[in-house]
Amino acid sequence: MKNFTYTRADSVEGAISLLSQNANSKFLGGGTNLVDLMREEVEQPDALIDVTGIASAGITENADGGISIGAAVRNTAVANHPLVRERYPVLSQAILFGASGQIRNMATVGGNLMQRTRCYYFYDEASRCNKRTPGAGCDAIGGFNRMHAILGTSESCIAAHPSDMCVALAALEAVVHVEGPEGARAIPFEAFHRLPGHTPHQETDLRPDELITSVQLPAMRFAKHSRYRKVRDRASYAFALVSVAAALEIADGKIQNVRLALGGVAHKPWRAHAAEEILQGGEARMETFASAAEAELSSARGYGHNDFKIELAKRTIAGVLSEMAKAGGSPWV
Ligand SMILES: Cc1cc2nc3c(=O)[nH]c(=O)nc-3n(C[C@H](O)[C@H](O)[C@H](O)COP(=O)(O)OP(=O)(O)OC[C@H]3O[C@@H](n4cnc5c(N)ncnc54)[C@H](O)[C@@H]3O)c2cc1C
Ligand code: SF4
Repeated sequence: MKNFTYTRADSVEGAISLLSQNANSKFLGGGTNLVDLMREEVEQPDALIDVTGIASAGITENADGGISIGAAVRNTAVANHPLVRERYPVLSQAILFGASGQIRNMATVGGNLMQRTRCYYFYDEASRCNKRTPGAGCDAIGGFNRMHAILGTSESCIAAHPSDMCVALAALEAVVHVEGPEGARAIPFEAFHRLPGHTPHQETDLRPDELITSVQLPAMRFAKHSRYRKVRDRASYAFALVSVAAALEIADGKIQNVRLALGGVAHKPWRAHAAEEILQGGEARMETFASAAEAELSSARGYGHNDFKIELAKRTIAGVLSEMAKAGGSPWV
């Protein structure tokens, strides 16, 4: 690993100013992804700026009934917070399905949003990877691509976004608050992560000189009826092959409100708009759920080893929604 300096920031302004002093510096959250990448020499910063102690760390209730989560809050603290468990159970479940207790205790919200893909070729310096070295090629296309994306892919990159937490945040229509030398900005969650296109190395809308300061969850009363389902190779400590985050409100047999997002299928957490369009106002029964899943996956493309994900995603969407409908909206059944 290359030598680097370590500085602990004590304020948002201090962190931004430290970053501006060296273009090859990086913010450090829990270090659970960045330090691994530094060990592999995929990332080689000169300086690390620890942002885990800055003031925006905390979970607070907003006047409209939504909540604000500081970027430095640890994943475990988010998952266990009473307001999150009560109002947004899908978020709590998604976090608890990720990584291990030890990693969740270290990982921060900002770091989770910015974590990088688990594509094996990205971590392997001997492989061709457009994300690591723009223009180099992509060994995953035509290679072993069981974990890779089936939606929104490009000829440059078929990597999948690895986060569970972010799939729930996509369904909950979170807003990411960031700050930089030019001031503060609020980025709708759907616009935060990017599809690969011809620039898979540009993964988010965050500018290189900006810090994530918080994530806001808008008030969404029916989100108390929400659920996360993760399908993976092992029962724990494995990234999602496919995951589904859903919030559902049903009255008189009809779907009054729905939010749906998918994980493990795209370069970004995938908000399932096509499915939502069919579900909204429809009969809360299996036929509706199955047609919604069909519509969402109609543009999916497999790359050989991951072809199975197309059918798996359809079945997982329909299965989660029908279980939620049967449970009458109870989030934990
Ligand atoms: C063995 C293992 C298994 C895992 N399994 C899962 C899983 O099943 N599901 C899942 O979702 N995740 C999983 N993870 C990933 C884990 O969730 C991430 O590593 C973690 O969320 C990253 O958070 P961090 O605070 O440690 O980030 P760091 O590693 O500290 O940083 C990651 C990136 O975020 C940037 N960053 C950090 N904070 C900020 C900020 N405030 N503003 C701007 N940029 C910032 C850093 O510069 C860096 O580029 C696993 C990780 C490991 C090691
Ligand atoms: S899928 Fe993306 S991350 Fe993986 S090798 Fe190809 S370009 Fe790199």
